[in-house]
Formats: sequence, C-alpha cells, structure tokens
Amino acid sequence: MSASDPDCIFCAIAAGEAPAEIIDSDEHTVTLLDINPATKGHALVIPRAHTEDLMSIGEEELCHTAVAAQRAAKRMEETLQPDGFNVINACGVAAWQTVFHFHLHVVPRFTDDPLELPWVPSPGDPEEISATARRIRGED
Ligand code: AMP
Ligand code: ZN
Repeated sequence: MSASDPDCIFCAIAAGEAPAEIIDSDEHTVTLLDINPATKGHALVIPRAHTEDLMSIGEEELCHTAVAAQRAAKRMEETLQPDGFNVINACGVAAWQTVFHFHLHVVPRFTDDPLELPWVPSPGDPEEISATARRIRGED
C-alpha cells in the first residue's frame, strides 16, 4: 500500500485534483456520488490512502470506511428517505471490481427501484456446505 497512486482516479478525487460530488469527508475518508448511479444517491466511500481492495486494506482504514458508510446512509435516510440500503464491495475483477482503490458502495434502495438480487436463492446441498465450512476453517 502507498499513500497515493498517481494513476488512480479515486486518489485524485481524494486529493481534490479531480471533480466529484463529495457529500462527506473526514481525516480518513471521502464520500462521493457515483457517476453511474444505480439509484438516486448511490455513493462511494473511499479511504484517503490508496489501497487496492478488501485483501489489502488495513483494519483501521476498513473501520473508518465502514463508519463513514454508516454516516452517509444515515444522512441519506434523513434527506432522500429511501426504504433501505445495500452496502456493497467488489473485490477482484471476477467480483466486478473496476476501480482498484478500495471503496464501499452505499446504494439507497427504494421499493419501486429496478435493482434485482444478483443471484437466485436456492437450497444448497448440506453436505457440500459442511465440507466448504471445514475447508474454510482449515480442518481438511
Ligand atoms: P467497482 O466497479 O465496484 O470497482 O466500482 C467503481 C465505481 O466507481 C463504479 O460504480 C463507477 O461508476 C464509479 N466511478 C468511476 N469513476 C468515477 C468518478 N470519476 N467519479 C465517481 N464515480 C466513479
Ligand atoms: Zn487510489
């Protein structure tokens, strides 16, 4: 991790060197509106320090970013009056990450918005779920 990456658009926004609709900021974070909003108010919370993704961000920076996401959601609850929120992180190309400076999406949700759950819930095989849990716990 470095403090700032000269090729990173979110570093430029955090430094005030690229345009953004900033709705909140503190010592550690900046929160801006997404230029491709999924819903009205779709925001991105970024740590000021450049960190690529969920695997590399430090615990303290992650905490600051999560707290700022909650603050943004509370502010939007008062002003935009959504019916709910999704807080989303994409980690890795396979998970749809396109900007490699860690960020949390705060997506206000409205009962009549067009978003859909990106997976189809269906019961898993209990044996397979147990085997996966054992593997993640390091027991296999
Ligand atoms: P992700 O695909 O999860 O990495 O999210 C990156 C997000 O950043 C996308 O939703 C983009 O629309 C958004 N984005 C990219 N460039 C900018 C920018 N200059 N200002 C605001 N949002 C941006
Ligand atoms: Zn960056």
